[in-house]
Amino acid sequence: METPISYRDSWVEIDLDQIAQNVRNMKAYIGDDRKLMAVVKANGYGHGALEVARTALAAGAEWLGVALLDEALALRRGGIKAPILVLGWIRPEYAPLAAECGIAVTAFQLDWVLRAGALCRSEKPLSIHLKLDSGMGRLGTRKETETKTVVREIMAAPALRLEGLFTHFATADETDLDYFQQQYNRFLKMCSWVGEVAGAPSLIHCANSAAGLRFPEKAFDLIRFGISMYGLAPSEEMKPSLPFSLKPAFSLYSRLTHVKQIDRGEGVSYGAEYRAKGKEWIGTVPLGYADGWLRQLARDGSVLVEGERAPIVGKICMDQFMIRLPRKVAIGTKVTLIGRDGDEEISIDDIARQLGTIVYEIPCMIHPRVPRVYFKEQEMTGAENDVLREKIVKKSRNPKNFGEYL
Ligand SMILES: *Cc1c(COP(=O)(O)O)cnc(C)c1O
Repeated sequence: METPISYRDSWVEIDLDQIAQNVRNMKAYIGDDRKLMAVVKANGYGHGALEVARTALAAGAEWLGVALLDEALALRRGGIKAPILVLGWIRPEYAPLAAECGIAVTAFQLDWVLRAGALCRSEKPLSIHLKLDSGMGRLGTRKETETKTVVREIMAAPALRLEGLFTHFATADETDLDYFQQQYNRFLKMCSWVGEVAGAPSLIHCANSAAGLRFPEKAFDLIRFGISMYGLAPSEEMKPSLPFSLKPAFSLYSRLTHVKQIDRGEGVSYGAEYRAKGKEWIGTVPLGYADGWLRQLARDGSVLVEGERAPIVGKICMDQFMIRLPRKVAIGTKVTLIGRDGDEEISIDDIARQLGTIVYEIPCMIHPRVPRVYFKEQEMTGAENDVLREKIVKKSRNPKNFGEYL
């Protein structure tokens, strides 16, 4: 028997072909003049940063975007050579490390620029993307003199290189476009301030998935493609008008660890609030709120077993929850929490709606202790178990037998 990558019976499957398809569709849609940045922050929105990065680059993405310097360094350690931009703020004392590793960073503060300029070496200049706050109110310069002063200092520092200029929209996924238009006009004006001091940097960018899908013509040189690379619509409002169909890549599965029949009136789980209405078959699923399967999902929640919906009954525990089965089924039967089983499907959108939140949160909240398994052309190509800190690559296997393998 082969050593399993994980000894538990719950796992996430990532279909890398779907991600590749989303990247290829977006590339074809935005045209050859615009570059595509695959945003793989937060472990690739929970999908696995390294696997997604490799897949996106092979499918035509030119850049990678992350939130943290740690995430950029992890990609470099994983052998990624493509350009990477850290979209968040880093400490100026880490600027030389970023420069050394060929990682571009976001800057916008005068003191930061002076400090980083003094610390970096001109033989290894630091690539900077200047962040302009056109209305997101998060990071970036806002005023004309502030912006021009920062740009002048970047230009004056031999160890700093102004490579890009960017902003981020607050409402690009909404039906009402007033605020978006205001931000866009403000960004144009702010770019002209920079142009007056420095000429145009080589990469101007403003579009996330929402803006890129709706207004590719407004996206300048590069689109920062996050949520829709993972096959998810940025908002409900945008769903009817997507330019191509998005292919989700994330599924969540488990296997029943226990099946039993209980009698009318008998309780299930903490608080014993759930009581059987008659004789009922109850299954135990080995996944709980510590895995990101939040307690709130017990309210009207269900999973799929043998192609049928099985309601969650009783409270969700830290590592387990119970379901009411349509009939007696075998221990080890597959349970679909997110994904398709026969004619039934539970999508990330369904879970987000149920929790009253956005789709972004759902794959991010599925904890790393749930192993990630990667598929390409129907074959398993790798797996990660964060608890045992094990990773395998290029281990092909018939997916039908995959559960046994886990
Ligand atoms: C996360 C992020 C993106 C990607 O946004 P999506 O809506 O997921 O496409 C783009 N730009 C910045 C600055 C980000 O932080």
